[in-house]
Parts: sequence; structure tokens; C-alpha cells
Amino acid sequence: MNRLIFILAINTLFYTVQVSAATVTSLTDSLENVLKNTATDTAKVMVYNRFARSLLTDNRQAQDYNQGLQFAQQGLALAQQIRFTKGEAELHRTIGNAYNFLMENEKAISHYEQAIEFCDRLGDIDCKALNYYNLGLIYRNMTRYYYAIHNFQMALAIWIQMENMERTTLVYTAIVRLHMVIGENELAKKWALEAVEMAIETENKVLMAQLYEHLASINVRLGIISEAEEYFQKALQMHEELGEQRSYAITLHNMANSIYVENPEKRLSLTKQSAAIFESVLPAHPLLSSIYSNIAQFLYNQNQTDSARFYFERSLEKAYLSGNPQSIAQAYLYSGYFFKNTGDLNRAERHLNQANEIATRRNLTQIRSSALQGLGNINQQRGNFEASLIYLLSYQNLHDSIVREDNIRNIRMLSVQHEFERDQIAMREEARMEIEKKQQTLRYQQIVIALVLFALLLTAVLMIVIVRINRELNKFKNNLEEMVETKTRELTVSKEKAEEANRLKSAFLANISHEIRTPLNAIVGFLQFINDVKISSARREEYIDIVNNCSRQLVNIIDEIVDISKIEAKQMSINPVQVQLNEIMKEMQTLYEVHIQTNNKKQIELILDDGCFLENDSIYVDSQRFKQVINNLLNNAIKFTEKGYVRFGYMLTDNNLLEFFVEDTGIGIPEDQHEIIFEQFRQVDLGNNRFYGGIGLGLTISRSLTQLMGGEITVKSTKGAGSVFSFTIPYKNEVVSQII
Ligand code: ADP
Repeated sequence: MNRLIFILAINTLFYTVQVSAATVTSLTDSLENVLKNTATDTAKVMVYNRFARSLLTDNRQAQDYNQGLQFAQQGLALAQQIRFTKGEAELHRTIGNAYNFLMENEKAISHYEQAIEFCDRLGDIDCKALNYYNLGLIYRNMTRYYYAIHNFQMALAIWIQMENMERTTLVYTAIVRLHMVIGENELAKKWALEAVEMAIETENKVLMAQLYEHLASINVRLGIISEAEEYFQKALQMHEELGEQRSYAITLHNMANSIYVENPEKRLSLTKQSAAIFESVLPAHPLLSSIYSNIAQFLYNQNQTDSARFYFERSLEKAYLSGNPQSIAQAYLYSGYFFKNTGDLNRAERHLNQANEIATRRNLTQIRSSALQGLGNINQQRGNFEASLIYLLSYQNLHDSIVREDNIRNIRMLSVQHEFERDQIAMREEARMEIEKKQQTLRYQQIVIALVLFALLLTAVLMIVIVRINRELNKFKNNLEEMVETKTRELTVSKEKAEEANRLKSAFLANISHEIRTPLNAIVGFLQFINDVKISSARREEYIDIVNNCSRQLVNIIDEIVDISKIEAKQMSINPVQVQLNEIMKEMQTLYEVHIQTNNKKQIELILDDGCFLENDSIYVDSQRFKQVINNLLNNAIKFTEKGYVRFGYMLTDNNLLEFFVEDTGIGIPEDQHEIIFEQFRQVDLGNNRFYGGIGLGLTISRSLTQLMGGEITVKSTKGAGSVFSFTIPYKNEVVSQII
């Protein structure tokens, strides 16, 4: 009996309260008014939907749900007519809800499934998730748990993806209930603890209250009473914060009958407290009848029979007030048993008959079975054994069928659990694979990132290397350019030198042919005159002088060419002999005075400057080469001087050198030519050279000879103001022989 009451109490937990709504007629009128003022058809569809939804809420009556269904169907027809997909999606769901409230599960399922199709077309995943969630609820009510969990999972996947914490918590809560229903209390607790955290995070107090309630129930089932009490307290606190008196009262009732079973005082006071709340806020609630039955039963157990009778009567009253057949049948059943136990068999029979009738009509097998058993017992007590047998046989059959049903249900529950576990494993496997896939993707991403980084690094290194190579190449290129430039410069200089040498050689050849031909022609010509018998002897003498002179010139040219060849072949040798220097100088003076005369240079005064002459003038020198140098200088001085003087001499320097000089007042040499004139075939002015004669070897030979003798030759001259050629030889008393 106690068990029965408890089951009843739990079953009535989620009963809805029938609140009187606005009358259907007035709603239809106002809908028509709103529709009249709505311009577009799409808006009209949504108006139908809004009106339908307003009727499809908890705690309404069947006629409201029917009216809601009708509005929704009108809306759907219009939406279909104008092909308004969103409207169709919304209204299919609304119709699904209506059928859900009207307990027409198959129809509800069909509409939710159609709604999912339309949501899909819209690409609206939230809309899909809502319908999946509703399908889950329906399947759970239909005890088709496998389908229920499948649909909850679909909704859960979407809302987790959308990061919609609120709705995720909602599905979690639904899954908690499902686990509770199939008796998976450990699992239910696990889900509930996760869900409650989410609810706290999203500050959803309604869900928090529900979940605390569930956690309390789960803990009661698991036998963890202290924890259950804690959760009941939390649930109460939540209901209070939310101002939910009905829920508060239900929780109180549940708490009394689950936690304080062993504490009659507390149990009674809490139950009464719960009843008082119901009386003040929901006097017609069917749970109130159960509560009074509970109190009555409790008082009867305490031997307070009168009080018990009072509460059984109240319970029946409340059951009639609620209009709920199950409550009425139950109230008759409990009071029937009470009357049977207190010996009032007539009333007992009446009440149990009532219970049996209603239960038979409403197919409430548990109640019917208990009623039949009670009636059997009464008839047995009265001695109506036949009637008693009939009742008890009916009871037996029904009881067997209940047991069978229980067994079947148990078997089904077991198979559902099995399916459920399999599903859980599959889910976990799926999740594991998902995670693995994500990890794999992550690994690939990491590899790709690493490769990209490596490529970047490589590029950077390559760029650095390329920059360095470029720099080196540039340096090398610059060096090369410099080298090429230097070489080019050197080559240009060499080329210029080669060209110059070539030019000089050509000039030399032209010059030399002139220099040779002139005296040769004179020799040939004058030799003919000499042979002429008619000329005077004086004239002949003169001609012979000319021929001699010219021959000497030729010999000189040939000598110079031979000398330069020897110098170039490094075959020129110096053979010093002892000479009297002053004598040689005087000899030169005599010789060149004649030379001046014969060359018609009478305007030149030849001066031998002997102011610094050495007394001991005996030196070692290659007299021939020494004379050759001084001859050359004197020849040039006279050649390039028209008038004035030619002065020559020597002195002993501090460095123990004998320095000779030949000074003239001739044409002079421009400063930039001072070095050049010592080079082979060089003459200051090639154009005018014809005038002065010469082949440009004299000074080259003189410099080489001076150097061979251990001295130097230099010039000081200004153009137009004369020149001073000086050369040194070491002042030596010993023989120096040198071959270069
Ligand atoms: P060359 O046989 O042409 O005289 P040298 O080697 O002796 O050859 O002289 C080279 C050139 O130096 C001469 O052609 C002349 O232009 C210049 N030169 C030499 N001595 C004198 C000087 N005393 N006065 C002016 N020019 C001179």
C-alpha cells in the first residue's frame, strides 16, 4: 500500500495544472482582428503561429490545445499556399507541439520530422536541433529510449557546435531524466552533475532547480541520503528564489516521503506544509489528493483513526476537484482499504467498487488489481466465498499479467539498457575517433606549419647566402673591374709606348736615311769635282775637306748605331786608363774651335772654364768613352746655339765626384722634355730637326756611358735661354773595369 502511494506521488510530480485560459471564442475574434490588420501573407502565417503557440503551453486544457492545433493548421495551409519555407518549418513544429500536448505521439513525430526537413532547406540548424529535442522528449515518453537518446544526441551535437550553453544544458537535463527512467542512476548522476555546472554557468535557475531535484532523487535511489537532502535543500532554495510555490510544495512532499521515511514527525510536518502550500495556490491540483491520502495513511498507522478518516475524505474531495480519473480511482482505493481495515465493510466495498470501475474504464491495471484484491478479501470476510473467489481469481489473473508486464517491461528495459550501453560505447568510440581525427588534423597542421617555417628559414638562409654571394661577387666584380681598368691603363700605356716607339723608329729611319744620304751625296758630288782637272788646287783642297768632313759624319752615324746596339746587347765595356784630364779638356777646346770655324758658327765663343781644374788631374777613366760623352755634349751645344757662348769645364764635388758641364746660350729645352731627350731617337722638335740634323741617339748613348763609368748625366735648361748639361764620374786613381 505504501509503495502504491509512493509511486502515485512520483507519477504525479509532472502533472500539469489546468488553468482556465481566455475563452476560445474571444481568442478567435482577436486573431481575426489581428489578421485583418496584417498586410502580407508571410506576416499572417506568423500571426497564426503566434496565436497557436500562446495556447500551446503547460497547464492548459485539451480544448486550448485543440484550438492551438487548429490555428497552426490554418497557418500551415497558408504557408504551403505561398511556399513560405520558414513558415512551414515553424508551423510543423507548432503542430508537433500541439499533438504532443494531446498525446498523439505518432502525429507529433511526423510533424517534427517534416519540420526538420524544412529547417534543413533553410539551413537553420538551431531550428533542426529544437525539433530533434522535441522528438527526443516524445520518444522518451513513449519509452522508445533508443530513439530518444539518438534525437537528444542530434540536438546536443548542434547546440554544442553553436556553443549554445543554455540549450545544451536543456538536452543534458533531458538525458538525465532518461537515465533516471531506465534506472541508470550512476550515469544519470554523472550527466546531472555536468548539467548542473552548465546551468550555474548560464545562470539558468529553472534548470538548476530541476537538476537539484533530479540529483536529490538519484541520490535517494542510490541510497546516499545525506547528499539527497543537500540537493533537496538546494532545490527548495531555487524554487523560493524563483517564486515557484507549486514546485516548492512538490519538493517538500518528495523530501518528506523519501528522506524522512524513518522520521514520522518530520515526515508529517513536511507533508502538511506541502499540502498547505497547495491549498493556497493550487487547491485543485491532483497531487493534493495524494498528499492527503499519504497523511491519512500515516495517521492510521499511528492509530489516529478519526484523523485518518478525515484526511481520506479530504483526499477523495480533492481528487474529484482535480477531475483526474487516476486520482479519483486512487482516492477510492486508499479510502476503501482504510474502511476495510477499520471494519466498515460496506463503505469499503463501495469505495473499492468505485476504484475498480474507474480503473477498468481507464485501464489503470495497478489500481484495478489492488481493488479486486480488496474486494476479494471483503467477500471472504463476509463469507461470500464464491464472490470472493471470482474477485481473487480476477485479481490473480490481473496480478499475473501485471507481473508478466513487469517482467516484459524489465526485459525490455534490460534490452533498452543494453542498446543504450551499446549506443554509449558507439558514442564514445565516435567521440574518440573525432578527437583522433582532430588530433590527426592538428598533427598535419603542425607538420604543415613546421614545413612552412622550415621553408621560410631555408628561404631566409638562402637569401642571406645569396646576399653574401652577391656581395662577394660585387666585390670580385669591382676588383675585376679595377684590375681590368689597371690592366687597360697599363695596356693603353704600353700600346701608346709601342705606338710611340714605332713612330720614333719610323722617324728615325726617315731621319737616318736623310742623315746618311746628305753626306754621301756630298762625298759622291765633290769626289767628281776633285777629279776635274780644271779646278784650282786650292779649290780641290777645299773639296777634299768637305769630302773628309762628310765621311766623318757618316762614320759618326755608324759609330752611334754600333754603340747603341752594343749597349742594348749589354756588350759595351769600359776600360779605364790613366789620363791627364786637363790635357783632354784643352784638346777638346782646340778641336771645337776648329769645329766652330768649319761649321760656320763664328758667332759662338767657346770658353774652357778651368777655374776649378785639379792640379793633380791624373785620373782613371775610359778615355774614349769619356771623350765620346763630352764630344756629344759639345757638339749639341754648338749645334743648338747660334750665337753667344759655349762654356765647358769641370770641378771636384764634395762627394768625390768629378762634375763636368757644358753650358750654352742656345735654343734651350722645354722643361717637360728634360727627361725625354735621354730616351732613344728622341728629339725635342721632330719637325725642326731637319734644320739641326742628328738622329736622336747621342744623349741615350751618353747617359748609358756615364752610368757605365759610375756617374749620372743631368740637364738644366729653359726654352730660348740656353742649356747646361752636366755629368759626373767618380774621381778615382785606380782601374775600374766594368761590363754591363
Ligand atoms: P741628336 O743627334 O739629334 O742631337 P741627341 O741625343 O744628342 O741627338 O740629342 C737629342 C735632342 O736633344 C736633340 O735632337 C735636341 O733636340 C736636344 N738637345 C740636345 N742638346 C741640346 C742643347 N745643347 N741645346 C738644345 N737642345 C739640345
